[in-house]
Amino acid sequence: MRTLNFSAGPAVLPEPVLRRAAAEMLDWRGSGMSVMEMSHRGKEFISIAAQAESDLRKLLYIPDDYAVLFLQGGAIAENAIVPMNLLGSMRVADYVDTGEWSKKSINEAKRYCEVHVVASAADRGYSYVPPQESWQLSPGAAYVHVCTNETIGGVEYHWTPSTGDVPLVADMSSHLLSKPVDVRKYGVIYAGAQKNAGPAGLTMVIVRKALFGRALPITPSAFDWQLQAENDSMLNTPPTYSIYIAGLVFQWLLEQGGLAEIERRNIMKAALLYDYIDASDFYVNPVERADRSRMNVPFKLHDDKLDAAFLKGAEARGMVQLKGHRSVGGMRASIYNAMPVEGVHALVDYMRDFERSNG
Ligand SMILES: *Cc1c(COP(=O)(O)O)cnc(C)c1O
Repeated sequence: MRTLNFSAGPAVLPEPVLRRAAAEMLDWRGSGMSVMEMSHRGKEFISIAAQAESDLRKLLYIPDDYAVLFLQGGAIAENAIVPMNLLGSMRVADYVDTGEWSKKSINEAKRYCEVHVVASAADRGYSYVPPQESWQLSPGAAYVHVCTNETIGGVEYHWTPSTGDVPLVADMSSHLLSKPVDVRKYGVIYAGAQKNAGPAGLTMVIVRKALFGRALPITPSAFDWQLQAENDSMLNTPPTYSIYIAGLVFQWLLEQGGLAEIERRNIMKAALLYDYIDASDFYVNPVERADRSRMNVPFKLHDDKLDAAFLKGAEARGMVQLKGHRSVGGMRASIYNAMPVEGVHALVDYMRDFERSNG
């Protein structure tokens, strides 16, 4: 029996993907070896990586003037890799501060440039996305950085900022592939795979090729986007097995009908949970309705002394990883693409039963 895994990441993967990987574990399609054992320079793995890239391009309609990179280091490494690759001779970068992950990006970037925080939601406990009208963009900024889904706070952009000629850079780690994205509006999109796309170890970077040529001389070769693009992400050994599994996830998404269909399901799943929370006096979600994340749903019980009992009861019903991030407490249900609607129903049923017996 598989549990209902509400982890924020590494997180639930589609069961058909895991079954397929299990079936191919010892012998990938007649090659006589596991994908883990393959040379990244062999024709088998090159075909796996090429298929994964082409499927990701298909899912997101990524134009040809954008490079797709499969790197290592995760989004936290990208927090440094972004300024290294984009500053060129510029000294300032703009950042929008919407919560814990924005703050991490800001603090890391400060090691490389002057950071201007052009808008912050700290004034109201990171419960909203500051509207674009309030952003004070800096003249001469190398780029504008946003985190479009705050995995801890549960705050999501449901609109695309427009930054004119200044490239928009987005950490989309926890909602990439949850809905269609207009890639052209962004200079760079990056995401660790382990939230919504695959196993840990793989970082996806989608970058407009016109931004190449700005890397600082100190940029490590393995993290130089242009060098990696010129080498099909194989300047160093890429995370081969993670790319393979992410590729199976991309195929699964295409089989489901693509990202418009996935978004439809995600809207429905999120509504089930938020509607129940809003109708109850027992649970509360602190985020402005218009800015709520469809992927990560933090909520608190009206009395935090009941937290331990809530988590214990959930586990007894096979629901795990509902404890909120240590920095905010309470609960958090991450309901990524691979969480079936039945899982959200089961959670809401449990929350209702718990409220009845403890309310
Ligand atoms: C998880 C997460 C990160 C950190 O990713 P690592 O793989 O640990 O580097 C960064 N940003 C967001 C939005 C995340 O959800």
